Amino acid sequence: MSKRDYYEILGVSKTASDTEIKSAFRKLAKQYHPDVNKEADAAEKFKEAQEAYAVLSDADKRAQYDRYGHSAFEGNNGGAGFDFSGFDFSDIFGDLFGGSFGGFGFGGSSFGGGSSRSKGSDSLVRMNLSFEEAIHGCTKTIKVDLMTTCPECDGKGGFGETTCPDCHGSGQTTSEQRTLFGSFMTRTTCSRCKGKGKTYDKTCSKCKGSGRIKEQKELNVKVPAGVASGNRLRLPGKGEAGLNGGPNGDLYVEFVVEEHDLFERDGNDIYLTLPLTISEAVLGCKKEIPTLEGTVKLVIPAGSSTGEKHRLKGKGAENPNSGRKGDMYVIINVVIPKKLSKEQKQLFEKLENTDLDDSSEFKNFRKYL
Ligand SMILES: [Zn+2]
Ligand SMILES: [Zn+2]
Repeated sequence: MSKRDYYEILGVSKTASDTEIKSAFRKLAKQYHPDVNKEADAAEKFKEAQEAYAVLSDADKRAQYDRYGHSAFEGNNGGAGFDFSGFDFSDIFGDLFGGSFGGFGFGGSSFGGGSSRSKGSDSLVRMNLSFEEAIHGCTKTIKVDLMTTCPECDGKGGFGETTCPDCHGSGQTTSEQRTLFGSFMTRTTCSRCKGKGKTYDKTCSKCKGSGRIKEQKELNVKVPAGVASGNRLRLPGKGEAGLNGGPNGDLYVEFVVEEHDLFERDGNDIYLTLPLTISEAVLGCKKEIPTLEGTVKLVIPAGSSTGEKHRLKGKGAENPNSGRKGDMYVIINVVIPKKLSKEQKQLFEKLENTDLDDSSEFKNFRKYL
């Protein structure tokens, strides 16, 4: 089978710009990606487009190809054409599928012509924060156990690399299946090299051939001001190492915020209960109020009751996304004394003989007696 011309595969002219080549490849990749297109020849067309793109997007390789054609790359991959197994397609596929390179099912599918590259898993860790740390933001160190690239073998899993004799580097084997309806060709991941396309003389003892080891890492995390329990911070590329040179997963840090014994948070608003004595509530007063940033003076008007709210604009928590601040609400709680001194008791008894029950609430109630 003679190989098709790379320019013809991508449907571009010999003088096409890098941008034209990239956009032509993106179009084909979208159309023929094996996770999207289940037609029998889709995988083959996808691979063909990948190979063409790997060559034409590289100025040196494109020049070689323009000069010598396919023979420029013969010999380095058993005459099968340009070996693009080490080529990094992640920038193309990354935004092609909405940025969720790993979440798209690439995990198990083999692509890249002889190398089952896949993105590392995303990881989640929880971080405890005090109320103040969450309000003001902070930098904290966390320890995470992650699968990281094996430093001994550089993630390859072994030493003394040779092209897999079973699949000749493609990472897949083709077998014929005969059924009543005819025979079908099926492609499966090569069992000898597990899709890597390569085998090794000596397996790496540190990672036992997996290319990754479990490692505890310390990470400094900058916690933005205003985070709340359940909020997650995404640290791109800080998750588990990818397989066979695939990109790292992401690390998500989920916050667990301690409660405060005075302030209560609801969204970005802060609620504070202010205790008042009976006389403060009746006569009115000036009170010092603690806020998230120092104290403020608040004038309580005469005749205040339990449950009445005072709004302190902009004294709430910051929204970590917009930077906008919520408000603080001061809720009045008139505390009725349970124990009275002799003198206090006499004063209340004196009060009782005045017309304190002259308001409409009392009058209305008495109508039904
Ligand atoms: Zn193989
Ligand atoms: Zn290793």
